[in-house]
Amino acid sequence: MCAGQPPAAPITKVMLRVTELFRSIQGESTHAGRPCTFVRLTGCPMRCVWCDSEYTFSGGEHFSLEEIIAKVRDFNCNLVEITGGEPLAQKEAFELIQRLCDEEFEVLIETGGYVSTANLDQRAKVILDVKCPASGEAERNDWSNLERLRRDRDEVKFVVVDRGDWEFAKEIIARFQLQERTRAILISPAWGQVDLQELADWIAGSGLNIRLQLQLHKYIWGPEVHGV
Ligand code: SF4
Repeated sequence: MCAGQPPAAPITKVMLRVTELFRSIQGESTHAGRPCTFVRLTGCPMRCVWCDSEYTFSGGEHFSLEEIIAKVRDFNCNLVEITGGEPLAQKEAFELIQRLCDEEFEVLIETGGYVSTANLDQRAKVILDVKCPASGEAERNDWSNLERLRRDRDEVKFVVVDRGDWEFAKEIIARFQLQERTRAILISPAWGQVDLQELADWIAGSGLNIRLQLQLHKYIWGPEVHGV
């Protein structure tokens, strides 16, 4: 270094805490059945009573953005889902999403609806969970996220446990005109807690343009298996 020159600023790497990074079959949404790489980020500020991802609340391993992108490239799948936990709770996730979109991956964001999607890369496709009353977290929905949904690419999901959740879902679908605003409205039963035939009847008789969503991966590998 020449005399009088300021020291070079240290290069700081963008890091993210990751619970799992794996390739599998997409189990949910209208993309179900497609090969997909999953980046499951650690941490969630919510505590839905039926949460099936509690193992993401803590732990995880730190990876740099470059390391994550290199692993995603190695899996050789065009479809990539950023999920959690709540993936948008780590602010660095927004940069990861942008970088993956720059590389022309088809990027899905599975978000619990608590963090604003306002600064999300517009190329990413949002699958937005709306929390129903039986989750215990309905008060924490950021309703402005529903107004940002785009008909050509975004989907909205209601996990339902009982009739109260079903009535709530119908009310929100009407209030936010979700049939006009989204590519798909997914009604997903909480695993093992809903009579599927009864739910199918409600959906079939609703007159709404919605769909029953079963979690394909749980039927293939079982509800307790992670990273598949
Ligand atoms: S938002 Fe998702 S990860 Fe977080 S508690 Fe609810 S179900 Fe679990």
